[in-house]
Amino acid sequence: MTAQNAAHGFASLAVHAGQDFDPTTGAVIPPVHFSTTFVQDGIGGLRNGYEYGRSGNPTRTALQRQLAAIEGGVHGFSFSSGLAAEDTLLRAVLRPGDDVLLGSDVYGGTYRLIARILGSWGVGLRVVDMSDLAAVRAALEERPARIVWVETPSNPLLRITDIQGLTALGHDAGALVVVDNTFASPALQRPLALGADVVVHSTTKYIGGHSDVVGGALVLNDDSLASEVGFLQFAVGAVSGPFDAWLTTRGIKTLDIRMQRHSENAAAVAALLDGHDRVARVFYPGLPAHPGHDLAARQMSAFGGIVSLELESAAAARRFAESTQLFQLAESLGGVESLVNYPDAMTHASVRGTEAAVPEEVVRLSVGIETIDDLLADVDQALRA
Ligand SMILES: *Cc1c(COP(=O)(O)O)cnc(C)c1O
Repeated sequence: MTAQNAAHGFASLAVHAGQDFDPTTGAVIPPVHFSTTFVQDGIGGLRNGYEYGRSGNPTRTALQRQLAAIEGGVHGFSFSSGLAAEDTLLRAVLRPGDDVLLGSDVYGGTYRLIARILGSWGVGLRVVDMSDLAAVRAALEERPARIVWVETPSNPLLRITDIQGLTALGHDAGALVVVDNTFASPALQRPLALGADVVVHSTTKYIGGHSDVVGGALVLNDDSLASEVGFLQFAVGAVSGPFDAWLTTRGIKTLDIRMQRHSENAAAVAALLDGHDRVARVFYPGLPAHPGHDLAARQMSAFGGIVSLELESAAAARRFAESTQLFQLAESLGGVESLVNYPDAMTHASVRGTEAAVPEEVVRLSVGIETIDDLLADVDQALRA
């Protein structure tokens, strides 16, 4: 009955995992299950474990299987947002007095969640540049951490961290190693295979891929951590709704080809910027001069769709961000359409003046899947504006 098996390649898993046809009608696309409750065959006689929509829903189950398969993990969980996924994981693992060691340029909302919400419950937070493994080792020797949390490539400067090296350090120190894989997506990088314990996603970005659904995910292998996470997902209830789960499933089916095109287009944009006299610096791991280039080439199958650039002044950066046309000025990333973002006043406004602040000359591009010549012409005219 099941068309897919674990030996299949990534693109096959993305299309088929969890997506068995409907046994009643033969519908190739399984129906979206909106029902909040499920009839019992006698008291406690549940059909396939389904009882109530918060504890389980077949459309969510289908997505969770698909997520686990594409990350090469055993257990997948989907949530109503990336931050809801993070919150559930953090609460499942941490107790008062525990510390989190966080990458210095992780998503601002992750920093805020730990510093401003979990901090009140006695959780400590330290920040370190995860791409510097000596600094990570020193931080862990100074005081153990329950969780080591990294984003690679990072946002918006595209720093690359050695996941295998970080995992070895974290495990030696007794920490759980969590990788936020939102920027690469599992099409380009699979942290569990490199030793990480948990993968986190904002599925709002590349996994959903069409800027039309907010969601989050956790994928992990350990059975006892999975039962803690599953209990909290049920007991706290930040689950994906059925339609959100279905939209995310639909996005995943084209993730592989989208990431290929995002990466090709981003490489071409980075190459244009790299030689341009108005551009002070380009941040893209696909460029040989990028400090993480060799590591990214080993750890990722392509370099992804995000390119950042530094202009000669804040005024020039703002002018560029307001002059593109095909690249629309908006927060977020990872959709099929190209977006431009001015981090200092938009996505990273909450970390202005802190050690996580982004230089005010920097602009971030989320390069979409449009015709490359149109994207290059747009970037070029905006640089001349
Ligand atoms: C957007 C984002 C998040 C937060 O996810 P939401 O879906 O907005 O809650 C977490 N990590 C990264 C890297 C992100 O880009």
